[in-house]
Amino acid sequence: MNTILQQLQQVHDRIAAATAACQRDAHSVHLLAVSKTKPIADIETAYHAGQRQFGENYVQEAIDKIQALSAPCPDITWHLIGPLQSNKTKPVAEHFDWVQTVERLKIAERLSAQRPAPLAALNICLQVNISREPNKSGVLPEEIPALAAAVTELPQLCLRGLMAIPEATDDHDKLTTQLLELQQLFDRMAQIYPAMDTLSVGMSNDLEVAVACGSTLVRVGTAIFGSRNA
Ligand SMILES: *Cc1c(COP(=O)(O)O)cnc(C)c1O
Repeated sequence: MNTILQQLQQVHDRIAAATAACQRDAHSVHLLAVSKTKPIADIETAYHAGQRQFGENYVQEAIDKIQALSAPCPDITWHLIGPLQSNKTKPVAEHFDWVQTVERLKIAERLSAQRPAPLAALNICLQVNISREPNKSGVLPEEIPALAAAVTELPQLCLRGLMAIPEATDDHDKLTTQLLELQQLFDRMAQIYPAMDTLSVGMSNDLEVAVACGSTLVRVGTAIFGSRNA
């Protein structure tokens, strides 16, 4: 059996075990396959095994893939999970289904203005800097309510949730504390904005703890497609 198919199955098994371990419904956690730096053939392999949501980090690389796959794999949902500069918002608004890395109102305003009218609203997650590392992307938790209030006013966007990249740490308690704070923030926001149904957290190495702390969307690259070249 093909390695990608085997590894994809292993990730599904890990998600099933993680949800069972905390009495969550297996279908409450979705899998985003992170295909950055990987060839189109790898995406097609995962697609033919039923995978439909893919995440990419680099705008130009992603748009090349989106265009190449629009005919053979027409129902892929594409998520931007890498940083977005304001001079790249237009192609992103035109080609992606989700942008998970919004951290400034100016970027959100540009995405809304540049989203073509015939397309459905662009789905948005706000990126939260839960570890408060100084050089890390994302807004601080206490800044989320004001940004969320402003983003929900934008007509061509739909605010769907929060996204975070936890600190790379071996300290399980510290990681769990940060993830539980994120879950509380998410729950508070979702009460105010019912369209917020997505907590995007958990990667190849930490998806189990993320699922235990309420993740609804795990973003997995290496564990599906193998390690990336630098
Ligand atoms: C690359 C990347 C991932 C996937 O990480 P893996 O460790 O390969 O699973 C998830 N989220 C973001 C934001 C990434 O940049």
